[in-house]
Amino acid sequence: MFRALLVTRTPEGTQTALTELDTAHLPEGDVEVDVQYSTLNYKDALAITGRGPVVRSFPMVPGVDLAGVVTASRHPDWREGDEVLLNGWGVGEAHWGGLAEKAKVKGEWLIRRPAAFDARQAMGLGTAGYTAMLAVLALERHGLGPSDGEVLVTGATGGVGSVAVTVLSRLGYEVAAVTGRPEHGDYLKRLGAATILDRAEFAAPGKPLAKERWAGAIDNIGFTTLANVCAGARRGAAVAACGLAGGMDFPATVAPFILRGVSLLGIDSVYRPRGDREEAWARLTDIVDPGLLEETVREIGLGEAIGAAGELMDNRSRGRIVVDVRR
Ligand code: NDP
Repeated sequence: MFRALLVTRTPEGTQTALTELDTAHLPEGDVEVDVQYSTLNYKDALAITGRGPVVRSFPMVPGVDLAGVVTASRHPDWREGDEVLLNGWGVGEAHWGGLAEKAKVKGEWLIRRPAAFDARQAMGLGTAGYTAMLAVLALERHGLGPSDGEVLVTGATGGVGSVAVTVLSRLGYEVAAVTGRPEHGDYLKRLGAATILDRAEFAAPGKPLAKERWAGAIDNIGFTTLANVCAGARRGAAVAACGLAGGMDFPATVAPFILRGVSLLGIDSVYRPRGDREEAWARLTDIVDPGLLEETVREIGLGEAIGAAGELMDNRSRGRIVVDVRR
């Protein structure tokens, strides 16, 4: 038997509870993992609270991330004792996920945990951190460099935002951080933000083109915020679209794209090939000092994850939530 969160369907919607499950009921997979740590991402909070249609089959163990140790493997790449990491691949949505003491997954979904991070630190980054890194890599590939000017990060106190601010500032960029919670301004400055901007400035519908300011941007909000970020991007700049915390719609005009050559770069972390994942994690290893990460991390036990998911949905959480699944 092992402990897990389980999302089940009810006549009213869904409910999530801490449950004991039989290992015989683990899904198909060629690698078994003893999970050490998982995390709570925005998507996990949607799954646990039932506030978004994340779960695609029931009952579901949520958790898009896990870090743990292989206990059995029929996959050629993995042996008992290997320290592994999993982000995405539909785990926690269509295949039982990481908010459990045990998981059974496909070997091709796993990557080796970078030696620089222990399991807790790796989950301190988790999908949010790996996504922030994918966004920075996309901006770099577009040609962005630290001398080009200010780079904007929206949803800055969130998981993706906190890591994006940290990574960009460590790389020498001048970071402008957008937040709806100015009381966390000092936190964002400690992570490396040079300027703190009010979320409200980006929330109202704006002009098709605004004053050219951003050399690059990482957006976690979507909706009017993303439209305004694009409108304020400099000629030839790129905007990496990661999230939809403010809404799925994109009420924009094509003006920034066709009159200023702005590029909108879509970031999908879930189905990235292994090579992209390894590149992103290797860069995180180079850039992020595990000690520095502590500032962004709050640790909870598995049983606390249901309450914490509600806090995250209500925008009462900050940075990253790491889940010790063994307590
Ligand atoms: P968090 O909840 O940790 O952070 C989201 C942040 O957005 C909040 O901290 C808050 O920042 C801001 N925010 C929340 N609600 C609103 C709102 N209604 N309007 C404007 N701003 C708001 O989530 P994550 O950082 O984990 O994820 C951020 C987004 O990125 C989510 O939409 C998530 O689904 C997406 N995502 C996408 C991935 C991909 O593969 N593309 C992977 C991972 C995440 P503040 O208080 O500072 O304003």
